[in-house]
Amino acid sequence: MKLYNTLSRKLEELEPLEAKKIKLYTCGLTVYSQPHIGNWVAYIYWDVLVRTLKANGYDVTRVQNITDVGHLTSDEDAGEDKMQQGALREGKTAWKVADKYIDIADHEAYDILGLLRPDHMPRATDYIEQQIDFVKQLEAKGFTYTISDGVYFDTNKLSDYGKLAKLDIEGLRFGARVVDTGKKNPTDFAVWKFSNPREKRDMEWDSPWGKGFPGWHLECSAMAREILGDTIDIHTGGIDHISVHHTNEIAQTEAITGKIFSSFWVHANHMKVNGTKMSKSLGNIYTLQDLIDKGFDPMALKLLVLSKHYQTEGNFTWEILGAAQNRLNNWRNMADLHWQLDRLEGEVDLNETILTDALSYNLDTPGALKDIDAYFDNLIRDNSAPTIESLDTINLLLSIKLLGEDINQKQRDLISEREACRKAKQWDKADSLKDQLFTQGLEVKDTPRGTVWIRVHSSSIM
Ligand SMILES: [Zn+2]
Repeated sequence: MKLYNTLSRKLEELEPLEAKKIKLYTCGLTVYSQPHIGNWVAYIYWDVLVRTLKANGYDVTRVQNITDVGHLTSDEDAGEDKMQQGALREGKTAWKVADKYIDIADHEAYDILGLLRPDHMPRATDYIEQQIDFVKQLEAKGFTYTISDGVYFDTNKLSDYGKLAKLDIEGLRFGARVVDTGKKNPTDFAVWKFSNPREKRDMEWDSPWGKGFPGWHLECSAMAREILGDTIDIHTGGIDHISVHHTNEIAQTEAITGKIFSSFWVHANHMKVNGTKMSKSLGNIYTLQDLIDKGFDPMALKLLVLSKHYQTEGNFTWEILGAAQNRLNNWRNMADLHWQLDRLEGEVDLNETILTDALSYNLDTPGALKDIDAYFDNLIRDNSAPTIESLDTINLLLSIKLLGEDINQKQRDLISEREACRKAKQWDKADSLKDQLFTQGLEVKDTPRGTVWIRVHSSSIM
């Protein structure tokens, strides 16, 4: 079995371990602070990936972990535990901080963005026993050594360490900052960190090596193995995970099993804001709520993200979000016209395979969105209406609902009354009824095929 660093082949041609079954693992959030839009980028891509795999007939089992301990502020196994940092900031225990942000993230991802809930969402702190057992196995095989602040994985003991990132290990050795950590090699990493006796920790456990907590990379290796088995089909994450986190997950797991950890490693690129990195000091970190407060639909963020391929760097500006909102509004207007126009003329179907085909080729989401644009353009040209099946397909693959609620009987009556006034040439009355409907969010248009309505979308955004 080979290791692939991209999905750049047709998803229908994947050769999973078990026919038509995909085991997928995703690195989830560290629940120590309010999630921002950058956190949702990868979530949005992997949601479409899972939906496309399912549309290709795969039975997908997905695990997405919740990091609630041990993720330090630095990749060097130094710095503070982010959870403890959150505890200090909010004057709560790390446990309470984790509970709070698990709830918030859950609500934003699954209720607001409408993403599919992974089958398993294990918390690192619920798998401490398995993680300790993992370290025991590494120790028994001679892969670990203990120094003053913890138990470390000796990367020199694994001949293909760094294969994912094709790391220049020698370069790292000679070029690394000389920090006197006591590590044998700069790439060695902690699998178990000892609690600092001078600092108070909310989360710590006894272990054969001393009181402490698991190294961040360990939870993914331990939980993936416990829930999915020694080898999985697809592992996803962000590109920032490649050189350290995923490299170390591979090292730990393969050191124990002697088998390849995952056939495919798929990484989402970053999204910048106004062309620069998101950072607190620049004040350019936005949350989903910030977008909603400005009148945007969260689905517009989804379109903004998907209009760019997962492997290329994205950019967020309010203008780009506005363009995504307009695209969404156009699609919705076309969908709403269905209720009115399908009774008048023929329908045009969006062939489901068109969308699945685009998405199946290395998750070509920009291509899929263009296919949907083309579909709606054709409707306008042919003067026809979308089919319910087509709208369902879009919802199935992208989880974007296009069809709004139908108008109510009162509004229907107002439209009929206006038509009667027009026939009777009572133009003033007809206009005032039109205004009345407009204030209810409906724009009435007279077409050669009859009177239709579309929803008024807020144009004051931005
Ligand atoms: Zn991970």
